[in-house]
Amino acid sequence: MDSGRVRLSRSIVGEEEAREVARVLIEDGYLGMGSEVDRFEGEIAAFLGVPRDHVACVASGTSALQLAVEAVVDEPADVLVPSLTFVSSFQAIRAARCTPVSCDSREGDALLDLEDVARRVTPGANVLMPVHYASWPGDPEAVYAFARERGLRVVEDAAHSFGCTVGGKRVGSFGDVVCFSFDGIKNITSGEGGAVVSADPEVMRRVRDARLLGVEKDTDARFSGARSWEFEVSRQGYRSHMSNLFAAVGRVQLRRFTAFAEARIALARQYRTRLAGLGGIAFFETDLGPVVPHIQPVRVLGGRRDEVRARLLAAGIETGIHYKPNHLLALFGGGAPRLPVAERLYGELLSLPLHPGLRAEDVDRVCGAIIETLG
Ligand SMILES: *Cc1c(COP(=O)(O)O)cnc(C)c1O
Repeated sequence: MDSGRVRLSRSIVGEEEAREVARVLIEDGYLGMGSEVDRFEGEIAAFLGVPRDHVACVASGTSALQLAVEAVVDEPADVLVPSLTFVSSFQAIRAARCTPVSCDSREGDALLDLEDVARRVTPGANVLMPVHYASWPGDPEAVYAFARERGLRVVEDAAHSFGCTVGGKRVGSFGDVVCFSFDGIKNITSGEGGAVVSADPEVMRRVRDARLLGVEKDTDARFSGARSWEFEVSRQGYRSHMSNLFAAVGRVQLRRFTAFAEARIALARQYRTRLAGLGGIAFFETDLGPVVPHIQPVRVLGGRRDEVRARLLAAGIETGIHYKPNHLLALFGGGAPRLPVAERLYGELLSLPLHPGLRAEDVDRVCGAIIETLG
């Protein structure tokens, strides 16, 4: 048996990505946002089944969230967001000069608890940011009904959910504003990168302008290898565009999506099968198949999470904790308000290794070590 280290996650990139980057480096002569980004956006749109102009690539998932929030508000607003998310969601809201309002999660699937959100809606709340934890979008109809009743815009943090479907429809092909991440370990990577997807032309116009310093209508010029010289700027902008080099990586990865998805789903199923019936471990509710899991969190019950984590580490197996709730961080509340479910989950969560390069025997080894500890 292989006794090497089992990594929690890793990028799966190879010769084909390297060849495409080399092609762009050598042929392109322009490494910023240009024709390669144009093609990547078109291919993402085709993959999602949305019109070409519903997709804009940006520098990261965090930038996608920031620009999306800025695009749906005219004044600084409160954004309702689950505390149990990557710090990126909170920093993006703050970077958009808005205020994150920490909400609790549901115990069964770690998604935003709308009953808790209902108690926390402030008069200044304009935006709801659900997070598709472990790629599971839950029940988008309920989320959108909730938002409609209260007049909230929805910015979905779908960083985990690229390629997932709900009722046969791809995440990103419906809804208000949907943000993806293509960072190194997400379902597909462009190295670093992200995308905003929306059918709202005003949102897309604002995001396209904001990603390149607020220069209005610059995208078309850039995509044809030119740039605007006589331009107007009327809103804050950033250097948040995607480079042609990164788009070249992303285009190859998009073609590999189906293979990646099959690997992730098979490994996640194997974890469930091997650990079924082990009393000390609980899986979150999800629907593998439509859901392509980016991470594999489990709950370790009975206060034994740290013990299991230490045993796995000693066996050369990396694990993670997704996530430390943001309301516990100094910048975002320092422990206020109390969010009992998020705080309890934080003590139980353990993410097991999951990436398309993981082998069935690795999952066996991980499960064996868990069973040895808890069994
Ligand atoms: C990865 C991630 C992001 C941010 O994406 P980056 O591309 O890393 O900036 C946002 N939210 C969640 C939940 C994530 O996991």
